[in-house]
Amino acid sequence: MTADSPKPIRLWVSTHNNGWEAWVAQLGDGTFTAWACEASQNAVATYIEDSFEHACAAAHVDLVRMSNHDTCGPGCVSWEEGEA
Ligand SMILES: [Zn+2]
Repeated sequence: MTADSPKPIRLWVSTHNNGWEAWVAQLGDGTFTAWACEASQNAVATYIEDSFEHACAAAHVDLVRMSNHDTCGPGCVSWEEGEA
């Protein structure tokens, strides 16, 4: 996230066994942003979606595309809410 990003009111993360994470944030206006990045790296939200489901799907598409993570397996953790 960058300093000029709108502040998220809720955050979800899914962590993957290749060291990448997919993130979804709900903003104060009710929209959801989504992105994927290597764990503990700063990243900028890539997508703005109108639902949690769409945002999760968008973040996961980026995760697969950017990290060549074809399928989830042991060690992958699905969406759970984190600290906003
Ligand atoms: Zn995975």
